[in-house]
Amino acid sequence: MRESPATLPIKLISTDFDGTIFTEFEKPPIPVSLENLIADLQAQGAKWVINTGRDMSSLMEALGRARISIQPDYLVLVEREIYQHDGVRYAPIEAWNTACARDHAELFARVRPEVPALTAWINARFRATVYEDAFSPFCLIAGNNGDADVIHAFLDEFCTRFPQLTVVRNDVYARFCHAAYNKGTALAELSRRLKIGPGQIFAAGDHLNDLPMLSRVHARWLAAPSNAVTPVAESVLGQDGFVSQLPHGGGVADGLRHHLLQAASQKQT
Ligand SMILES: [Mg+2]
Repeated sequence: MRESPATLPIKLISTDFDGTIFTEFEKPPIPVSLENLIADLQAQGAKWVINTGRDMSSLMEALGRARISIQPDYLVLVEREIYQHDGVRYAPIEAWNTACARDHAELFARVRPEVPALTAWINARFRATVYEDAFSPFCLIAGNNGDADVIHAFLDEFCTRFPQLTVVRNDVYARFCHAAYNKGTALAELSRRLKIGPGQIFAAGDHLNDLPMLSRVHARWLAAPSNAVTPVAESVLGQDGFVSQLPHGGGVADGLRHHLLQAASQKQT
């Protein structure tokens, strides 16, 4: 028998996208088992947010290619902006996104003059692509993860010179952001808007940029697929979370089922 929305223990499902629910080289890129499970939970009143580093056009394009029948209720894009599906389109949560854009503009205005020296340091030592985009005055694509680790350490040191400046890293990609905005604080804002607590939130991710949301501060029910990088798997396990034997979306469905059972049994005791 289906539970009513009032008794569904998990009311918000926050999933990273790439490597967590979506894999380009698999057919389909988002597994049907996960699609069906999320559809079922949405039908019972749960909300689903894709919490990703992608921007809107990149995510929409990938979601279109995945040909899924379900639709996220919310998007967190570029690890910081929040959008809500209003029945027609994804509309920005204006108060949050405006503050986010303002805080980043103020911070990046102070950082930008120092970026050429930073770029020169990297280019003198590594084969890497460095550029500015709409979201950061400094973006990096390292040649490999080993190079990215060394550059990441240098960037962390650089950040100590600017209060609130931090590095967001995903595989060989890195950029700057304001410390107040990440997948975790965006998830906290959503929970505030939905008037639910961490005890009703599930979060799943696979890489370093997911660590801020893979925290018991924001989500009681944490999961990672088998392909998660070691720091993520260790963090999830260390917080009573679940690391699946299955990769990607199959692992997320596995984690979600595991936690739904656990959450339901805790409610009964
Ligand atoms: Mg990922």
